[in-house]
Amino acid sequence: MHHPAPGRIHRERRPDVLSVDQRHLTGPFDIIGDVHGCLNELNALFAALGYERDEASGWRSPDGRLPVFVGDLVDRGPFNVGVVELVSTMVGQGAALCVPGNHDVQFERYLAGEPVPLLFGLEGTVREFEAQPAEVRERTLVFFRSLPGHFVLDHGRLVVAHTGLREDLHGVDTPECRHLAAYGANDDSIDPRDVARRHPWIADYTGSACVVYGHTPILEPAWHRNTIGIDTGCVFGWRLTALRWPERTLVSVPAGQIYARRRRPFLPEPDTIQST
Ligand code: MN
Repeated sequence: MHHPAPGRIHRERRPDVLSVDQRHLTGPFDIIGDVHGCLNELNALFAALGYERDEASGWRSPDGRLPVFVGDLVDRGPFNVGVVELVSTMVGQGAALCVPGNHDVQFERYLAGEPVPLLFGLEGTVREFEAQPAEVRERTLVFFRSLPGHFVLDHGRLVVAHTGLREDLHGVDTPECRHLAAYGANDDSIDPRDVARRHPWIADYTGSACVVYGHTPILEPAWHRNTIGIDTGCVFGWRLTALRWPERTLVSVPAGQIYARRRRPFLPEPDTIQST
């Protein structure tokens, strides 16, 4: 295996597919939680992180920081095409990294012609993309297919995966591992608010790599061992959050509105919300 040039994103097996192993990239990184079509909040988050508008890629950090998306770019929110176009442009220019979430993989399968059920917000994403020229859908399929299931970054100190990943699978680049990282414990009987059951690897995690994940909306990110979930439920009306690395500080912006509701409510009653 050759050693890639420092700072260049590593393409290994095929020129159009990124390698999970990007440990030569040392950041600094801004790891961004589930966007779910919330383009206005994503733009606000980039501004809050100190990025500047860039004609070619969309946003650029004057300090050379690299955004890393934990996945779930699409579904439930209002601007799925806009989010995918922005993130795929940035990724295509080496100005960001992105791993797929379960919503992205379902949409990837739809775009590939598989008979996937139009549920959990996918129906809205499909409606938006079907109103676009065919080449938008074609390049979106190429984009999602180019994403490996997780990334190993910063000399192996940082792992980013949509639902997280147990230690023995860090760096494992197989379709099964990609599916596991995107979907996690895919059991419809699990309460979507139940972090421990939706991310069962956390209970046994003793790894030295910090694992950053999304997937399960929480009101406040908190460290559990060397892991942290940063999906703060923007599309459900709360916040879009980034974890700065190596600083390990959080930056978030509020949702403009509640775009989607769940049968079991995510947001607390207004009088119980702590002011921060
Ligand atoms: Mn999600």
